[in-house]
Amino acid sequence: MNIAILGAGVGGMAAAYDLVRAGHNVTIFEAADNVGGLAAGFKEPHWDWSVEKFYHHWFASDKDMLGLIAELGWSEKVLFPRPYTVIYWDSKFYPFDHIYTNIPLFLLKHFPLLDVVRYGMAGAYLRFSPWWKPLEKVTADAWTRRWFGKRVYDLQWKPLLNSKFGERNAEQVNMAWLWARLHSRTTKLGTFVGGFQAFCDAFAGRLREMGVTIRLSTGVAGIIQGPEETLSLATPSGPETFDQCLATTSPALLARLAPGLPADYLQGLLSLRSMGAVVVVLALKHQLSEEGYYWHNLPKSAGFPFLALVEHTNFMKPEFFGGDHIVYVGDYLEPDHEYFSLSQEEILKRYLPSLTRFNPKFTPEWIRKTWLFRTTYAQPVPLVNHSHNIPAIPTPIPGLYFASMSQVYPWDRGTNYAVEIGRRAAKLMLGGNL
Ligand SMILES: Cc1cc2nc3c(=O)[nH]c(=O)nc-3n(C[C@H](O)[C@H](O)[C@H](O)COP(=O)(O)OP(=O)(O)OC[C@H]3O[C@@H](n4cnc5c(N)ncnc54)[C@H](O)[C@@H]3O)c2cc1C
Repeated sequence: MNIAILGAGVGGMAAAYDLVRAGHNVTIFEAADNVGGLAAGFKEPHWDWSVEKFYHHWFASDKDMLGLIAELGWSEKVLFPRPYTVIYWDSKFYPFDHIYTNIPLFLLKHFPLLDVVRYGMAGAYLRFSPWWKPLEKVTADAWTRRWFGKRVYDLQWKPLLNSKFGERNAEQVNMAWLWARLHSRTTKLGTFVGGFQAFCDAFAGRLREMGVTIRLSTGVAGIIQGPEETLSLATPSGPETFDQCLATTSPALLARLAPGLPADYLQGLLSLRSMGAVVVVLALKHQLSEEGYYWHNLPKSAGFPFLALVEHTNFMKPEFFGGDHIVYVGDYLEPDHEYFSLSQEEILKRYLPSLTRFNPKFTPEWIRKTWLFRTTYAQPVPLVNHSHNIPAIPTPIPGLYFASMSQVYPWDRGTNYAVEIGRRAAKLMLGGNL
């Protein structure tokens, strides 16, 4: 078959890998001028490693991603250092890198014993119970308030839900989303030698060697049904015909590209909610968190203008980046938020004054360079009973398939699940049953 894939992100490339191995002609159309999609990175001339545009790491439990890397023969290029994650409470940062010892110890110091007992019980239930289905019937807000208690809810879960999903969605997200995070994530965090872009480039290189054509800077503008069960793609060089097509775009974009989809499938795509992300990357002359903290979880209620500050070079050595200290400050925001239209200077004006809260010595002279990255599709929002709203991978148009972050539920989006759904889509396209 001649198969087209829209998107050279991790999901599209994972699907291409299985489809070309099954003996088909695979062409990937990628609108950007590089592969990697949301996991892509960039590099300054004096850096040896690339930096992801949006902070990225793997969890030790990311078995689909780590399994694919093992198949490709690159496992020795995966690094798992031990960075520190901290949470802000009562004007201080507390390292929470080990959830099962540090959090109870912290709680014991500041809260009644009852909170520690409840934390242990509710935490253990979420970690070990495999039953997520009943949890999607209730909101994470109600469940955590009830089972962890109001104090722990106020400290940990309310700020997380608010920051991740915004005020409009925070109280509507279902508990299966939180179950999936606690159930599957590890405190060990990993990356690839050279950064995620190095992995994506190597993967694209391997696919090309295997015969996959990757057409960069080639956005597809439409997908329509052609004669004899074929699909016609509107490409910059005119209509091109394929037997099958896998789209890995956002649901809203697929709805625009394929308006011929039946009304109920289109309606399903358009009813899915998601959050965007705005991230500023700073190259600093000095280390910001001298305690060596990597990931700072920040409650908006404490007056921080962003949700997370991530000092990448407290995870990977500054030597990989020509001695620059790389810091991300970022937030998840509604796609119509003003930060999607403000200039980089205007956003920096709002973000930079807070940096002295991480190091009082910080001054704007520390900044060597800044970058701004934005995407309106960053984080799907799973509402109550969300499993009923997941679009099927085979769409009602014969030969047209769809695999996106919005369909990996109950798991939270991530490159691991992009690999999983990309390969699942390839299996379906090859006529396999799941
Ligand atoms: C802020 C942020 C932080 C994250 N942190 C992590 C993390 O720590 N760890 C982790 O594993 N994951 C993380 N993720 C999630 C991860 O990046 C995604 O789950 C994954 O990259 C999705 O891959 P994908 O292939 O499904 O989609 P995408 O990466 O979105 O790929 C889709 C591709 O389609 C292309 N495209 C769009 N329209 C067209 C068109 N018309 N024609 C052709 N091509 C088109 C796009 O340019 C893009 O390259 C994060 C994401 C964000 C936004």
